[in-house]
Amino acid sequence: MSKNFRDVLARGERLVSDGATGTNYQARGLERGQAPEQWLVESPAKVTQLHRDFILAGANIILTNTFGGTAMRLADTGISETAAQVNQRAVNLARNAIQGERVWVAGSIGPSGALLEPFGALSREDAIAQFRDQAQALADGGVDLIVIETQFDLGEATAAFEGARAATGLPLVVSFSFDMGTNTMMGLKAAQVAKEMTALGADAVGVNCGRSLDENLINLKEMRAATHLPVWMKPNAGLPRMTDDDVAIYDVTPEIMGEQAERWLETGAQIIGGCCGTTPQHLRAIAQAVERLRVNA
Ligand SMILES: [Zn+2]
Repeated sequence: MSKNFRDVLARGERLVSDGATGTNYQARGLERGQAPEQWLVESPAKVTQLHRDFILAGANIILTNTFGGTAMRLADTGISETAAQVNQRAVNLARNAIQGERVWVAGSIGPSGALLEPFGALSREDAIAQFRDQAQALADGGVDLIVIETQFDLGEATAAFEGARAATGLPLVVSFSFDMGTNTMMGLKAAQVAKEMTALGADAVGVNCGRSLDENLINLKEMRAATHLPVWMKPNAGLPRMTDDDVAIYDVTPEIMGEQAERWLETGAQIIGGCCGTTPQHLRAIAQAVERLRVNA
């Protein structure tokens, strides 16, 4: 469906992406210190169930559980399968969740977990190779598009894009996390990354994760004004507060998230969903915002 996905984007159709992976797994029993990818092998039924829950809540796009799916990150998980096997398994588990609905499977590629030169020890060539191999495995597994997400460093984002593009002609979305509020950890602003990703040839550019909904709305406005590309908006369900035993509690309700989602659409986001703290109930409220604005349009 990848060609069809580009057509849908070009028509300006609004789409709903899914919600959080990590925080929902934790609520369903993923233990602290366990990588979400471990569930691909140990609890595959739970992986497919969360995908299914998001589809039932209204998602048109589900992201594979491969955020940490580069070979270098998987090496720390203790999973004995190869990185290519793990990524292809994740695509299969996502596909298994679709029961005739119009849903695209997006291969998730997160940061490498290491800093690139000159900030860290990872060379650009090695980074590109890691991302290329992951994108190749996701494409071989049959994803419809690839989402390079939670990016914060321009060097790494461009390496991920270059690696993914070397592996596949599938649509590529590149999304950034503004962890400092309206800057990424490396000080990037939304307008800047939007221009850079447009020049690179991304199919869409986005805002995901980050901090508060208010700050992410500012990031979205800035991004929207800086590019003609479709904009992807998948923010956290607000800022969590930490309990005494270090559990993140998200106070933003599905109702608040649904109201905010209307602002995202009015601001010009074309694909909307949620990141950390976004449960299937939040996602349903986001999907309903798309319906409300369609009715009112
Ligand atoms: Zn997040």
